Amino acid sequence: MLSHRADRIEASGIRRIFELVSSMEDPINLSIGQAHFDVPDAVKEAAIEAIREGFNRYTVTQGLPELNDAVLARLHERYGYQGRESLITSGVSGGLMLGFMGLLDPGDRVLLPDPYFTMYPVLAGMVSAEVDTYDCYPGTPLTEELLEAQLHPKTRLILINSPSNPTGRTLTAPELRAVGAVAERHDLIVMSDEIYDDFVYDGPFESAAKYIEPERLLLLGGFSKTYGMPGWRMGWAAGPVALIDAMRKMQQFSFVCAPSIAQKACLVALQTSMDHEIESYRRKREMLMAGLSEHYEIACPGGSFYMFPALPAGVGGAAFSERALERNLLIVPGKAFSARDTHFRLSFAAEDAVLERGIVALRELAESFREG
Ligand code: PMP
Repeated sequence: MLSHRADRIEASGIRRIFELVSSMEDPINLSIGQAHFDVPDAVKEAAIEAIREGFNRYTVTQGLPELNDAVLARLHERYGYQGRESLITSGVSGGLMLGFMGLLDPGDRVLLPDPYFTMYPVLAGMVSAEVDTYDCYPGTPLTEELLEAQLHPKTRLILINSPSNPTGRTLTAPELRAVGAVAERHDLIVMSDEIYDDFVYDGPFESAAKYIEPERLLLLGGFSKTYGMPGWRMGWAAGPVALIDAMRKMQQFSFVCAPSIAQKACLVALQTSMDHEIESYRRKREMLMAGLSEHYEIACPGGSFYMFPALPAGVGGAAFSERALERNLLIVPGKAFSARDTHFRLSFAAEDAVLERGIVALRELAESFREG
C-alpha cells in the first residue's frame, strides 16, 4: 500500500523514548529536545489577543510582512546579513523540508554532519536524495580537506548545524570560512540550521551569515527553542531570492502559511529578552560538566542544551541505555544520530533537581561498568 518513500522511514529512536516516558514514574529524563521553560507571558498575551481580535484566518504564504522585516532586520543587525528575502515557515522543520525539496532532485547528494539531527537523513530520503556525511564529532576540526574528501560529482548541498543537536558543538569562524570556500569552489549551496542560535555560552554566536555569501546560503532559524514554544510551529528561512521564492510556492501548496496567531505573537517574542533563561542554561551546563567530567569523556558544549559524552570503553549504546533505564534514567544513544555507536546524548533542558539526580545516576552507571 505504501510508497517507497513512506515505507523506508524508520521510527525515530527518540520517539521510542518518548513512549517509554509515559509509562515511567518520576523518571530522570535527560532525553528532552525542548527548553524546559514556558513561553513568556507577554507572548502568550499577544497570541490570546490575536485570537480575540479575530486574527484567525490565513496569512499571506510568505508570512506577515512585519515579521519578515523583523527577522531580516535582526539578521542584519547581528551579522551584517545582506540578503533581502525571507519566508516564515511552520517550524524549522517546515523550512528544512521546503529547502530539501527546493534544492535536491532524485539522485542528488547532500553532505550532512555526523552526528546529525535525526530529521536530516529522513528528509533526504523523502526527496530521493543520497546522503554522504562528514565527521563533526567534537574534537575533529572542520576543514576544507575534510569536506572535500566527502564530495561527490552529484553533491549539491552541504548542511551545517551550529550549535549542534546532538553534540552542542559550535562551529568557529575559520570552520565556517572553510565551508564557504568549499561551497564556492564546487558551486554548492550551504544550508545552515541555526535553531539554537540564542543558546550560546562562550562569546557571541558565529552565524554562517557572517562568513558565507548570501547567494550560496540558506539560513534557517526559529522560535521553538528560544521562546519555549515548539508546539506553536514557528520558524523562518532566509536566502537567495530564487530559492526563497520556490520555497514560498511550495509552502503555498502544502503548509499554506505558518499559524496566524503565532506569527502575531512572535513579533512580541522578538522584543522579549531571554537572557535570564539562557544564563540559567549556562549554569546547568557548568553543573553537568563539573558533575560528570571525572566519570565521562565530554567535550564541553559551546551551545544548545545538549552534551555528547563518550560511552564507557567497550560498552554499546543499547546496553548503556538499558542499564540507565534500570536507574530510572533516560538518555538517547548516539546511534540515533550517527553511524557510530560510541557516545550518548544528554539534554540539560531540565530542572536543577532533575539534573542533580541525573549526575548521581550517571556517576553510578559509569562505576557499574567499571566494575563489570
Ligand atoms: N533543527 C534542529 C537541529 C532541531 O534540534 C530541531 C528540533 N528538535 C529542529 C530543527 C526542528 O525544530 P522546529 O520544527 O520545532 O522549529
